[in-house]
Amino acid sequence: MSVYKIAFGDNIYVGSTRNPLEVRKRGHKSCLVNEKYKNKLYSFMRNSEIKDFKLELLETVSDGCLAVREEFYRKKLNANLNTFRCFITEEERLHSKNRKIKCCCGSIIRNDNINRHKKSSKHKTYENNC
Ligand SMILES: [Zn+2]
Repeated sequence: MSVYKIAFGDNIYVGSTRNPLEVRKRGHKSCLVNEKYKNKLYSFMRNSEIKDFKLELLETVSDGCLAVREEFYRKKLNANLNTFRCFITEEERLHSKNRKIKCCCGSIIRNDNINRHKKSSKHKTYENNC
């Protein structure tokens, strides 16, 4: 499992994948040309007419903490092209139980439902594609 970044100067996106980076890159490319997928990363690339980009490996993660490492790098690199976080700490979760959040798959869910939601087929479909 890998945490990677896509950087255009100071504009940075951090993502993670269980697939080889080349496979993930193809996923990003197909999302880029599909207007259905709207997020900061794709908007930025469309607006800048960027057709090619590279995924740079930040870390290979062997245990189950992929989302934690991804969040670590998002904060560290100040990744401005990430639309929203896929992971919140237990403390953050407890402080905002009823807050509605938007998941990376586009679903609006209650904060305390995030773990259950992550197991849902809608979310899994998203993770396996874009
Ligand atoms: Zn989701």
